[in-house]
Order: sequence, then structure tokens, then C-alpha cells
Amino acid sequence: MKPKDIDNPEVLVLNEGLCHDLGLHKEELNSQILSGQELLEEPIAQAYAGHQFGRFTVLGDGRAMILGEHVHDGSRHDIQLKGSGRTPYSRRGDGNATVSSMLREYIYSYAMENLGIKTSRSLAVIETENLVRRRRTEPGAILVRVMESHIRYGTFQYVASQAPGELEEFTDYVIDRHYPHLNNKSKKYVDFFDEVMRSSIDMVVDWMRVGFIHGVMNTDNMSIDGETFDYGPCAFMNYYDEDTVFSSVDKRGRYSFGSQKEMLQWNLTRFAESLQPLFEESSYAFDELKAKLDSFDETFDEKYYNMMSRKLGIKSDGEKKIVNKFLDWLRDSRADYTNTFIELENPGSFDDPVYSSEGFKHIWNELADAGLDKRIMKKTNPRYIPRNYLIEEALNEYLKKENLSKFKRLLDRLENPYESKDANSQFQQPPPEEFDSEYTTY
Ligand code: AMP
Ligand code: MG
Ligand code: MG
Repeated sequence: MKPKDIDNPEVLVLNEGLCHDLGLHKEELNSQILSGQELLEEPIAQAYAGHQFGRFTVLGDGRAMILGEHVHDGSRHDIQLKGSGRTPYSRRGDGNATVSSMLREYIYSYAMENLGIKTSRSLAVIETENLVRRRRTEPGAILVRVMESHIRYGTFQYVASQAPGELEEFTDYVIDRHYPHLNNKSKKYVDFFDEVMRSSIDMVVDWMRVGFIHGVMNTDNMSIDGETFDYGPCAFMNYYDEDTVFSSVDKRGRYSFGSQKEMLQWNLTRFAESLQPLFEESSYAFDELKAKLDSFDETFDEKYYNMMSRKLGIKSDGEKKIVNKFLDWLRDSRADYTNTFIELENPGSFDDPVYSSEGFKHIWNELADAGLDKRIMKKTNPRYIPRNYLIEEALNEYLKKENLSKFKRLLDRLENPYESKDANSQFQQPPPEEFDSEYTTY
């Protein structure tokens, strides 16, 4: 298997910070290498399974190929092409990706990285000459994606269901790769589950901190080490509403903003089931694993309320009552999630009428007694997020005029999202009315 042949691949964006972190020289990364036309070894497509919207399916990389592992400064990363053509797992798919969806993934992963959230990173987007037919027809592209590994809950589900005899060896490999400090522990499989649970909780709590909705939390999209990945129909929430859903595929709101905790717990339960065969001789140890799973709620809430307390600048941790009261107000007033924390920190930042209401003054006064510590708030609350309508505008400008200047301006803004550049800037504006119920289909 190898990436499809491409005439005239063109590098649209290259992540220089990531080149640096990986010890790669950008001068050497030409479009032939980045699009997999020149190879060091044969690429692989991974097999995995997954619960997609609740239903178990055997899958695999249908449009992605891992070029190899890159080791630098003691850390190991997969380098993967997405959109590089058909693989043995493509089923009826064409193996391709559109340029707008790959640019979109690039900007989301770049934003998440700079927001301090564990994520896959995008090294480059390369446009190809062939057209890809989706909702609209547009040029194809390849994204070069970098992750500590592409192993996911669904990889365990695959091994447990398709190659159970290899489950132990595979689990040991994953522990060695991602959680090597557990190697000599007597209950390493219980501890492994616990650490996967904790790193996933940290990831989702971080999503909630910045208002991120992943959109497709299928078990094949849940990485084993808490890296956010597979940026498809994802978005950042504008006004606060737990029921916000962005994916048109997600008809029942399974993966809404507020469901992400419950869906993580559901996914972890499937992951625990896939580990069960490891405990055949020790049901006692599996009970311990179940006890860890039972502690999910408490562990999640503790991390969540600590995070929300920091957003409100409350010095003491876990101020559940204050946080909930604040969230009630936020929901009822439909205030913008991101901007409200900036306004609380520096009243007068925005001229939105909701911030001159009695309700807001009341909330502010209450919080002033408990929190509003600016140093904590500044580190926790981003000034800029990649709002979906801004991304859409930038992508449309590229598709219509082949002009990436809007896209690059947005990227530039997202380089230091905690640093205020100008008050009330266009990048901080919630979408105009007509974008209110925007949906994406990628
Ligand atoms: P996702 O919902 O993005 O996680 O994708 C689910 C599965 O569909 C994965 O196994 C993908 O590899 C596969 N897939 C998505 N798009 C394509 C495509 N255009 N061609 C082949 N496989 C695809
Ligand atoms: Mg996926
Ligand atoms: Mg996807």
C-alpha cells in the first residue's frame, strides 16, 4: 500500500513550530515528501473497531496512512497522512479529503495546541490537483498529522474482538509506549485503566474549559493517552447552552456540549469491557478496575469544578454552588461563553447589553467576594477561540479566490490565545444572527 500518485502537490501551510519541536528542517520538507510521494518505508493503515453513535463496527484507517514513527529528543510520534487515497479499510469511501476540511482540521488542532490542550498536531496541508466530490466539489488535500500514537479505545475493541490471543501483548506494548512507569506494577492493568480514564477526563474537562464540542466521540476517536483528535464536525460554543450540537449527522444530540462527560463514561465502559479478558484468572482485580470506573463521576466532577472555579478566579477549589449558580445565569441569559469570563475579569470589555443587565451586576458582585482573581482568570480563560463562522469565512475566501490571507490572520490570532491584542476585536465577536444555528457536515 502506498499513497496515491499526485501531480503537482502544493504545500498550503506548514507548521514551523511543530517542525522545530520535531527537529525537522523545513527546507527539507518539500511537497513530494509531505504528500508521501517519496517514502522511507512502506506506510501502514491501522485496523480498529469502534462504537459509532452507539453501534459496534469493525473499521480501520479508510483514508489515512502512517508513514512511520519519528523519534526526537526521547519522544516518539506517528507521522500520518490523511486523505492520501484508498486503503484496505476504505470500504465504499474514496480515501480522499477536501481542502476545506483539512484546512479546518489544521486550524482547530493549532488552536487547541496553543490553548494548552493535549491534541494531535498538524504539520502541513498539501493541496492536490484532483477534485473531490462532497456537498460541494473542491480540490483534494492531504493533512500531515502528528500524534504520540494513533492507538485508541477502538484499537482495544478490535484486538479483543478480532485477535483476542494478542490482547495481552498489545496491552503491554501500549503501556510501554504511553505509560511506561506502570511496567513493573503488580496491578498494571488496573492502573493502566485508571490512567487512561484520568487522561481522558483531563482532556474533556479542558474541552469544557474552552467551550469545545468534539462532535464525534465515537470510541474509535478516543485516543488512549488523552490526545484530542479527529477534528470533523467540531466547533466552539458561542452562547452558553449545554444542548449545543454542531454536527448535522448527530441528529439526537448524542455528542452535545453537555453530554461529553456522560459519553466519556460510556466510552470508558466499552474500553473496560475490552480489557476484561486480561482478568480471566483474577476476577478480584477486575472488581478493582470496576471500582475505578465507578469513581468516574466523582473524579470528573472534582476536576471539572476545580477548573470552573479557576475560570471564575476563585482561589479555593471546587466551589460547586457558586459555579452552578453562575452557569444557571449564563444559560438563562444566553451570554457568550468565552467573552463572559473576559467581561467578568475586566468589566466594560464588551458592549453587549447583557453585561449592563442587573443580573450580570448581581453575579459580578457575588463573585467579587469569592473570586475574580485576575491572575488565575487570565491563565484559564482564552481571549480568542476559532469561532466557526470565522473559519467558514476564511475557508470560503480560499475556495473562491485561492486567497489564504484570512486563514493566516486567524491562525496568527490563535498563536497566543490568552494574550489580548485589541479590545473588542472582530475575532472576539460572536457570530451574526444568521449563523446562530449553523451546522457543519464534514
Ligand atoms: P470518522 O467518523 O472521521 O472517525 O470516520 C469513520 C471511519 O470512516 C474511519 O474509519 C475513516 O477512516 C473512514 N472514512 C471517513 N472518510 C472516508 C473516505 N473518504 N474514504 C474512506 N474512508 C473514510
Ligand atoms: Mg475517526
Ligand atoms: Mg474524521
